[in-house]
Amino acid sequence: MSRLALAPPDRGVLFVVSGPSGVGKSTLLKAALARIPGLSFSVSATTRDPRAGEADGVDYHFVARERFLALVEEGAFLEHAEVYDRFYGTLRAPTEAALARGDSLILDIDVQGARQVRARMPEAVHVMIVPPDIGSLEARLRARATDSDAVIAGRMAKLAGQLGAVGEFDYVVMNDDLEAAHACFQGIMLAEMSRRDRRASWVARFAPLASH
Ligand code: 5GP
Repeated sequence: MSRLALAPPDRGVLFVVSGPSGVGKSTLLKAALARIPGLSFSVSATTRDPRAGEADGVDYHFVARERFLALVEEGAFLEHAEVYDRFYGTLRAPTEAALARGDSLILDIDVQGARQVRARMPEAVHVMIVPPDIGSLEARLRARATDSDAVIAGRMAKLAGQLGAVGEFDYVVMNDDLEAAHACFQGIMLAEMSRRDRRASWVARFAPLASH
């Protein structure tokens, strides 16, 4: 699908997108980022090692544990959380700068982080991506033969914890049919970008007609 010729809103929208691993979140995110102008991916800081194909500053800012903890002390994070024994966090300054410029951002974060963003930035829009059923995700976790039972049990608990928080989200997208999921996900973003309070300049263009 081609990039839309759409003017970005006057005020950027902060989209928090959560969902269990293996649900297809990154496929939905990539398509939305390619299609919707003025929308960028928020690059988190993490203490985990880069995976093959991941680039520093693009997928994550890869930092040492000591550096991460120093940033926590400085109050540099909008939110941060420990996931699978690794730290992840969203840096406050680039997030605020993007929104002030009118750019919208996608934060791909877990539900612990989503709660912190909800408390600190109530205007953020929260979207949860869910699978049609939990069984297929569990089967995928179990199929990784290299993981010990304890590791698998930990991942399953995490999965349940993520999906169990769905009631806290503004929107829910089920990744059953991929085309439908893309349409719903992008539809949510486009609708939020079309809210009148984010389109003050368009409204002002026609405000003089209000008395007619
Ligand atoms: P992965 O290591 O597979 O890239 O990500 C593991 C989990 O960490 C995913 O659920 C992802 O959403 C979450 N995550 C990634 N970045 C952040 C972040 O900045 N903050 C929080 N709270 N979670 C994050």
